[in-house]
Amino acid sequence: MVKRSGKAKTMRKLIKAIWIFNWFNSCGFAELVPLVGSRWDMERFGMIIVGTPRHADVLFIAGYQTHKSIERAKRIYEQMAEPKVVIALGSCTMTGGMYWDSYNTIKKLDDYLPVTMYIPGCPPRPEAVFEACEKIFEHVKELE
Ligand code: SF4
Repeated sequence: MVKRSGKAKTMRKLIKAIWIFNWFNSCGFAELVPLVGSRWDMERFGMIIVGTPRHADVLFIAGYQTHKSIERAKRIYEQMAEPKVVIALGSCTMTGGMYWDSYNTIKKLDDYLPVTMYIPGCPPRPEAVFEACEKIFEHVKELE
């Protein structure tokens, strides 16, 4: 979870709306498609996809990650301003999914990025993604 309480107040101020940058491999984009559509419409809750990591509070990462792609993900994370969180979406991101035994698939995202929250599923339900974002708000409030 978010570790440094000194940053909690700043984060609380910043995260009135969640600005998201996404890094999706393979069919990972399937995780987010229902949320941007009219049925779930995440923008109602202030969750907005931004075009640059420099504007983002949250990094959504989905799909299995390779040794090559994770380097790009790390670079994106480094460009995000503090305070920032990482949410891993879907089973592939956690375990490598169907490519778990490939020489090139990473098995543990935590070894590369400080993951704040994992959301399981293939793909995760939109309700689970909303709940995760709500938990981030709650956790930041607890730290204050
Ligand atoms: S968890 Fe499912 S939907 Fe997500 S990237 Fe893996 S196979 Fe695709």
